[in-house]
Amino acid sequence: MAKKASDHFKGIPDLPDDPRAKKSRPKIMAVVDEDNCTGCQACVPFCPVDCIEVMESIIEIDDGICIDCDLCVFICPIDVLSSVATATI
Ligand code: SF4
Ligand code: SF4
Repeated sequence: MAKKASDHFKGIPDLPDDPRAKKSRPKIMAVVDEDNCTGCQACVPFCPVDCIEVMESIIEIDDGICIDCDLCVFICPIDVLSSVATATI
């Protein structure tokens, strides 16, 4: 059977639901001390990948997206964010 021209083109692969999501956790990521975070949200606009979610009065970091750039760690005015090896958490 003769092949059609369209047989030679590959289909466009399906896009993941969230293109920013990584397949594996980073080796190091930012972690918040939930007991002491004031929920001031000063760190939120500085995250380049928008992975800091504001919960009721604290923040939560999505480890599937965090790229461990440490920007939020430097920004937090009360030093409740730290960079931690994910194997330890
Ligand atoms: S370390 Fe960087 S990517 Fe991770 S939450 Fe902080 S600002 Fe966002
Ligand atoms: S800047 Fe610090 S205290 Fe403010 S929301 Fe972020 S982690 Fe919490």
